[in-house]
Amino acid sequence: MSDAITEPRSVLITGGSRGIGYAIAEEFLRRGDKVAVTSRSGQGGPEGALTVAAEVTSGESLDAAVKAVEEAHGPIEVLVANAGVTDDQLLLRMSDESFETVLDTNLTGSFRTVKRVIKSMMRKKKGRIVLIGSVVGLYGSPGQVNYAASKAGLLGIARATTRELGSRGITANVVAPGYIDTEMTAALAEDVQASYKKAIPAGRFADPEEVARVVAFIASDEASYISGAVIPVDGGLGMGH
Ligand code: NDP
Repeated sequence: MSDAITEPRSVLITGGSRGIGYAIAEEFLRRGDKVAVTSRSGQGGPEGALTVAAEVTSGESLDAAVKAVEEAHGPIEVLVANAGVTDDQLLLRMSDESFETVLDTNLTGSFRTVKRVIKSMMRKKKGRIVLIGSVVGLYGSPGQVNYAASKAGLLGIARATTRELGSRGITANVVAPGYIDTEMTAALAEDVQASYKKAIPAGRFADPEEVARVVAFIASDEASYISGAVIPVDGGLGMGH
């Protein structure tokens, strides 16, 4: 099976200035798509991609970003909602503000972005929505009540969207990475990293590219009958969750 595509599609990836989002952008570029990424500064993103400024906690900011992308590349046919943050703290010490900020970025930010691209997908009767979740969303993790709740919520978005729009050629799925070598995991203490690696059947963290290839597949024509699913990319860590 070839991964060559005939018609370049307009692809938008939120949070493409580094890490997993950057690798996903590179993979779509490699496959010949028209790729746009967002970052808060409007900088970053791989060569060949259009980088636009967007703050996913602001609807106005996303309106402007989607407009800019559509003017440059046409209506968005593939959305990868990837922008996300952590703010870890044990439940006893977690502030309301920390919980709200993480939810507002990871969960509501994904909702805001999805909402802004579905109209043109419905018109076209074709679309791919890929939400970047986490193994933590279903498996849980101490110190991450805010993050786990935000990632678990993405499944609700994917499944309800599938039920609403599945008959219109639109799929919505969650790709749930385990631990990936990025700035987010580099921030973990070394002993914490070592203990995680012990628990992962694969015995290692993944490269961002290993996530990117799965996202590109879920967004491809080959994956036309996969929707409302959680696709783990976690070296076996979350098995059965
Ligand atoms: P990074 O911290 O390396 O990158 C995060 C990206 O999100 C950046 O491009 C950042 O852009 C953007 N972003 C953050 N907050 C906002 C905001 N409020 N508005 C707009 N953009 C924002 O993270 P990773 O690459 O590690 O993670 C990417 C996704 O994958 C996240 O959703 C994360 O939860 C998920 N994930 C990561 C795992 C890992 O092990 N690394 C494991 C499982 C899931 P800016 O340039 O503006 O900072």
